[in-house]
Amino acid sequence: MPALSELEAAYTTAGKDTVFTEELALLQTTYIGRPTPLYFAKRLTERLGGAKIYLKREDLAHTGAHKINNAIGQALLAKKMGKQRLIAETGAGQHGVATATGAALTGLSCDIYMGSDDIARQSLNVFRMKLLGARVIEVSTGSRTLKDAINEGLRDWTTNVRTTHYVMGTVFGPHPFPMMVRDFQAVIGKEAKKQIMKAEGRLPDYLIACVGGGSNSIGLFFDFLAHDSVRMIGVEAGGRGIASGEHAARFAGGSIGILQGTKSYLLQDDDGNVLGTHSVSAGLDYASVGPEHAFLKDSGRVEYTYAEDNEALGAFEMLSRTEGIIPALESSHALAEAIKRAPALSKEYVIVVNLSGRGDKDVQHVARIKGIEL
Ligand SMILES: *Cc1c(COP(=O)(O)O)cnc(C)c1O
Repeated sequence: MPALSELEAAYTTAGKDTVFTEELALLQTTYIGRPTPLYFAKRLTERLGGAKIYLKREDLAHTGAHKINNAIGQALLAKKMGKQRLIAETGAGQHGVATATGAALTGLSCDIYMGSDDIARQSLNVFRMKLLGARVIEVSTGSRTLKDAINEGLRDWTTNVRTTHYVMGTVFGPHPFPMMVRDFQAVIGKEAKKQIMKAEGRLPDYLIACVGGGSNSIGLFFDFLAHDSVRMIGVEAGGRGIASGEHAARFAGGSIGILQGTKSYLLQDDDGNVLGTHSVSAGLDYASVGPEHAFLKDSGRVEYTYAEDNEALGAFEMLSRTEGIIPALESSHALAEAIKRAPALSKEYVIVVNLSGRGDKDVQHVARIKGIEL
């Protein structure tokens, strides 16, 4: 609790400090490359023959995904708090790379917790983190993946809180993390609103984003929540189908539980044991989901659905061929939903899809699935 209280107080102060907010705004422009473009996907729209599809290009942000928006925000905050060290968890390695980047930028030391199974699967990202000056600490307990890496990270933080800031990678964990990460990601929706007003002269009919922990989706949705005419759809990982039990669709297949400081929808058995998950995309492969999404689901403001592995793979290939953009497999889940919906809507409708990241990291994985040796 003292660590969380200290963080909440520092974050509240920083939000009112123009030195902090101006430094962050300058880095968003000159380092991350913001604003990211809102691109009208003309060929994809024509191919589907219905609603106009726009893509919010977070794939063009530095390090290739939206995660950098949050990592740079928290790194600056840690520096301001006088911390000397950043730690973080990572699954596929994207948040680890973003945090290592933030640490290099601010001159802080950096340790990244990663499950040994993930280390074996994501050797390229492990080396990227090392190049950026971070140490990668192997976690060989439990399922040896993301959940266990978060446990170890939180343990480290409570031991070393005087010197260390824990950079949570998504809108999860105890307060103030879900609020803080949402605020750092809300820049996505703020920009998208201005950009769609300029392009179409009105707000969009639909926003669609994939939901792992829920940070890129809430980042897009947040600034639009008060506009009732804008429908929002969060897309979870349907894996091999809900019936198979091999998925990460917490809203479709989970129930309320508590994990890692968060009360939310959770994939658990009748005794409250956390269930194993599966998704073709590592970034969506987690047993629970940010608590604000649980609220948005229960209030009915946001609709949640899922896309299965094969649907995401189909969207991955379709966007590559129609637009020359190779999307992340996570983002491909959001695209799969747009591909399902657009044909049934008339041409006046406008859909904005959050392209949360680029697919370079997934190329090898997709080749393996297709049985191609690289
Ligand atoms: C990590 C990741 C996600 C999932 O995380 P959220 O917090 O739900 O956004 C989605 N897309 C990409 C490209 C990612 O790297």
